[in-house]
Amino acid sequence: MTRYVDLRSDTVTQPTQQMRDAMSTAVVGDDGYGEDPTVVALEARFAALMGKEAALFLPSGVMANQIAVRVLTRPGDVIVAGKSQHIVSFEMGASARNSSVQFALVDDSAGSLALSDVLEIIDAEADHQPHVAMVSVENTHMPSGGTPWELNDLRALAGAIGERPMHLDGARLFNASIATGVSLKDYADTATTVMACLSKGLCAPVGSLLAGSDELMHQARIERKRLGGAMRQAGFLAAAGLVALETMVDRLSEDHHRARQLAELFADAFPEADYDASTCRTNIVSFNHPQARQIVEELSKLGVDGGTVAPRRVRFVTHAGVSDDDVDYVSDVLEKFRPALR
Ligand SMILES: *Cc1c(COP(=O)(O)O)cnc(C)c1O
Repeated sequence: MTRYVDLRSDTVTQPTQQMRDAMSTAVVGDDGYGEDPTVVALEARFAALMGKEAALFLPSGVMANQIAVRVLTRPGDVIVAGKSQHIVSFEMGASARNSSVQFALVDDSAGSLALSDVLEIIDAEADHQPHVAMVSVENTHMPSGGTPWELNDLRALAGAIGERPMHLDGARLFNASIATGVSLKDYADTATTVMACLSKGLCAPVGSLLAGSDELMHQARIERKRLGGAMRQAGFLAAAGLVALETMVDRLSEDHHRARQLAELFADAFPEADYDASTCRTNIVSFNHPQARQIVEELSKLGVDGGTVAPRRVRFVTHAGVSDDDVDYVSDVLEKFRPALR
């Protein structure tokens, strides 16, 4: 019997039984009046984890990024970011649409941003170029293969940009922290605002959080309303989020372990890709291959579903729904059908 192994994304994860139980018994209220105790508890918990004054529960990670842009920029401003970051390449141009800002892009093919590249753009302000309102970084950096930032690099960047705000897109910040041993607080301390997703590796059905100062989160609350993201009895969702934070963080190391196994299998199966499996440090296997789309298509027919994130770049993501048996199955598929993929 063929299996089906879904490696498209960690967003396909299902809520755990404990989450379903917590949702069915959640105490809720109208969050528009600040009266949902479960939402309030989740926001407080996340703010504490990040070492920030306040946090805001949001329907999605995109909205968290977009609200950060709304509160940290003015129309016409420039955001410095890595050119393949989510906020640049995977939000349908939302920052331009919502905030009338533009990006100055720097190379992020290895996951981090070079200090000199960022400072060069900021320095150009002195040469009649537009105001650089903020720098945005992504940790883990998805397109490079779930690369976690080194704390020292992030600190150096934050230090070099001085008072200028930094937004940390930490959709997978928990993965980064588990992989590097750097605390969430230490990572978040480098940033003005930080967001994380509950609905990816942590398996909650819906929701992301944005954290920052009281003042910024007050503004963020207004922007959430403007974008139509204010919810009512959202405690049902927050209840699952609290369970996610309590029970699903430590197990991410299992996803990382399986991703590394897959990385080695893929590296062996496609030597021409020159993929270094040791660069796979979290839950994402991603590498360039001239036949990327064909590989994804053929593997999909064999029950191994992945995706492409750019022309000639494949991606396979591990998560709580991927078992050791699934890894074995992928191994068999790659072994048996390798010739068919050429
Ligand atoms: C998934 C993701 C987002 C957006 O989260 P959604 O909940 O899908 O809107 C933002 N940034 C990164 C790096 C992501 O991987």
